[in-house]
Amino acid sequence: MTPNKPVHFPLSAFPVVNNCLEVGGQPLTRLACRVGKTPFFAYDRALLTKRVRHLRENLPDGIHLHYAMKANPMPAVVQHMASLVDGLDVASSGEMQVALDTNTTPENISFAGPGKTESELSSAIAAGIVINLESEREMECASRIGLSLGYRPRVAVRVNPDFELKSSGMKMGGGPKQFGIDAERVPEILKRMAQLPLDFMGFHIFSGSQNLKAESIIEAQEKTIGLAIRLAQDAPSPVKLLNIGGGFGIPYFPGEEPLNISTIGERLADQLPKVKKALPEAQVVIELGRYLVGEAGIYVCRVIDRKISRGQVFLVTDGGLHHHLAASGNFGQVIRKNYPVAIGNRMHAEELETVSVVGPLCTPLDVLADKMEMAKGNVGDLVVVFQSGAYGKTASPAAFLSHPDAAEVLA
Ligand SMILES: *Cc1c(COP(=O)(O)O)cnc(C)c1O
Repeated sequence: MTPNKPVHFPLSAFPVVNNCLEVGGQPLTRLACRVGKTPFFAYDRALLTKRVRHLRENLPDGIHLHYAMKANPMPAVVQHMASLVDGLDVASSGEMQVALDTNTTPENISFAGPGKTESELSSAIAAGIVINLESEREMECASRIGLSLGYRPRVAVRVNPDFELKSSGMKMGGGPKQFGIDAERVPEILKRMAQLPLDFMGFHIFSGSQNLKAESIIEAQEKTIGLAIRLAQDAPSPVKLLNIGGGFGIPYFPGEEPLNISTIGERLADQLPKVKKALPEAQVVIELGRYLVGEAGIYVCRVIDRKISRGQVFLVTDGGLHHHLAASGNFGQVIRKNYPVAIGNRMHAEELETVSVVGPLCTPLDVLADKMEMAKGNVGDLVVVFQSGAYGKTASPAAFLSHPDAAEVLA
């Protein structure tokens, strides 16, 4: 290896026993047998629990932690997360139904996302969950539906802030956006809301995702709190809910390092007295998806063929971009980089080689690892893609090429 070549941050969450990765306390080979087929996603229950504990230890007391379900909506995962966090954030009525099956109280479930239909709004209102309004239309519509159903809708205003979350993988606020209501228009919206039969809960300000720079997150949190305090001056009633977003990232690629959560926690603690003073009734919420579940999951597929083409080794597996678009580099990456990938039943390899791991799809985009160094793999071995607990199965085009679906297991 050339010196200074960036490498993957060492991953140690899943133990290795007798050369084999363990998930949920059992060898991967045995878990594969139990699942009965490959490929599959496996999520480790104990790691999910540990992650929430780690966050709670580092975030100030009194911060509510919400799980943003779109990162991983598997019902078993959502049930487990619901038992650990303070609320759930949904982004569709499908996710809402799964959330309502948990024992989370409706007022701790919020519904964000642009373009909510009448029928989605009416289910959400009937359920009593908090609707994060993304437009004036949604506000008027919620008010009308509330009147006709005879329930007073709980609403929060999703604000498109007048700043960005710097160094984010995906920016979802600042500038012109389809998300939320532009901060400068919020005062007039709030004035209109005062005339409508709506229960104003507060604000939702989510500015971005997949951020590994504590300083950028801290800066965004400070600006978010400042913005919310300013906007509250025009609110029809006291702010009860202040969702300051999340955006905590996890390391995927060579050279990336885990986020410094303790610094974020300390700086957020410094901000809380200001919130308490200006918005005494406000519950501060942080909503996280991938940070909670991403590192607790792996994607597992089996080597079907081993080929050498003009000197380059290819492991052809039964899994690929149709199950795991993000690992193939086609989900928001500009330059393709490798996720951490290993041969799960040969973790301490005697023999290493540089290989490309590909899937069975007839497209050159179907790559899980491009010329990566790993244990020498053979037909029947289990390839593992780490950091796959979030935006895996449900963020992938499963129908493309009509291969079978991936299974999922919470171990
Ligand atoms: C996608 C999304 C999240 C979760 O983002 P992560 O990067 O997975 O933490 C949270 N809130 C909203 C509004 C989202 O759209």
